[in-house]
Amino acid sequence: MPPPANPRIAILGFSIECNKFAPPATKAHFLARTYLEGDDIVTEARAPTPTVLPETPGFVAAMDAAGPWQPVGIALAMSEPNGPVEHGFFAELLDTIARGLKAALPLDGVYICAHGAALTTEEDDPEGALFETVRRIVGARVPVVATFDLHANVSDRMVQLIDAFIGYRTNPHLDMRERGAEAADALRELLAGAKTERVRLRLPIVPPTVTMLTAAGPYAEMIQLGQRRMGPEIMNVSVMGGFAYSDTAKNGLTVVVTSRNVAARSTRSAADTLAREIAQYGWDNRARFYPKLTPLDEAVEKALAAGRDPNLPALAFADVADNPGGGGRGNTMFLLRAFAEAGVKGALFGIIYDPPLAAEAHQYGLHYNFEARFNREETTNFSEPWSAPARVAALTDGNCVGRRGIYAGQRLALGPCAALAIGGITVVVVSHRLQCADPVFFEMMGLHIGRARSVAVKSRGHFRGGFDEFFAPERIVEVDLPGLTSPMLSRFQWTRLPRPVIPLDEGVAFTLT
Ligand SMILES: [Zn+2]
Repeated sequence: MPPPANPRIAILGFSIECNKFAPPATKAHFLARTYLEGDDIVTEARAPTPTVLPETPGFVAAMDAAGPWQPVGIALAMSEPNGPVEHGFFAELLDTIARGLKAALPLDGVYICAHGAALTTEEDDPEGALFETVRRIVGARVPVVATFDLHANVSDRMVQLIDAFIGYRTNPHLDMRERGAEAADALRELLAGAKTERVRLRLPIVPPTVTMLTAAGPYAEMIQLGQRRMGPEIMNVSVMGGFAYSDTAKNGLTVVVTSRNVAARSTRSAADTLAREIAQYGWDNRARFYPKLTPLDEAVEKALAAGRDPNLPALAFADVADNPGGGGRGNTMFLLRAFAEAGVKGALFGIIYDPPLAAEAHQYGLHYNFEARFNREETTNFSEPWSAPARVAALTDGNCVGRRGIYAGQRLALGPCAALAIGGITVVVVSHRLQCADPVFFEMMGLHIGRARSVAVKSRGHFRGGFDEFFAPERIVEVDLPGLTSPMLSRFQWTRLPRPVIPLDEGVAFTLT
């Protein structure tokens, strides 16, 4: 059968990364970030500075470029990383998607923008549940293509209910748009009659987030190996590092290969052979999936030295344990307090999520001196109150467009923001919880990163994609602090992770049969 001349393609999505130890995500969180239905999805995807993550705009642009098609927006819900999604909202979303898909039939294909590390308060595999709903409605023959964050925790149904599994390959995530475009290419191929096989292999390794960078390291090498092995039979290789803090039975470093060969075979398929090779490489390098962080007292010494001696290189300090990009609240005081009490000079610190404090600074106005009380409303047991004399150094409404890294080109609203001068440190306080991955969060306050002696960010790794023009990797200090996203996984009470598992247990075994 020739491909449909003007295919009707449904677009839908559910994207959130859930940390089981963080407070739940509600419908309000999605409404505040991204909740779109119907044609609004397509309009937003084609906007010059879209508010949605770039994979859907990338998908739509590539579909537009490849020929006629009819996009049919269904529903797209995205939120900042948070705790598990309130199940009532997820059930409502599934219902909205089911009704939308039924009304849109007949369809020729479906694109799903997924994350892969979602949870609900009742379901550990919401993406699998979503794909089941989609498949039930569109049937077995309509091609379904999905994109995933590389922090996806991958269940078997997530792989087997779709026709092509396409995961990010960069961390920081700078290839979202390209993966959306790749999903469009895959869908065009499937519309033309291609059939696929998907193979999933999971390792008993739950990599701490800081060990999953893609510039260098064992994870980067697994991804590179997969890309070197791309050939005519292989449609996609995705190496999914997973997100430990989801704490599910499906956690674990997972290789997913989508291949084009589905002919009857007597030996192993191309997908299976390749998935095994990459998984074996990961297993052989398991000793490299243990985090190495800098203790707080050493970090303070480094910041003090950088502030005292202008001949030393400026440094970036990452509070990887309170990363809003992994469900952290973005408000723990351990690092700021230590820097302030030690008298660190020439430091920028951002971004602290504290709406009441930002509002108070706006009330007082510029140059006002007051006692800044952080965390007056305690949100987690890591978010301890702390106060210090401060001066209001800058104020903005928090509306900006991302300049560099994962937020580049996206319209962002941080709510009322204030820069507070506390001793030798200037702290940016915001009203919308976001990770400090883009220099614009300092620059919109008139602060100069290039002149700072040290810059502390609440971000696990995405700041590397935004601040790379100021700090080479060797100028980055990952500090060991308490928090909801600490890479020291032994500090958490796990209930669902498959055990034994690296890096938590001794005597972990893995054999490929
Ligand atoms: Zn991610």
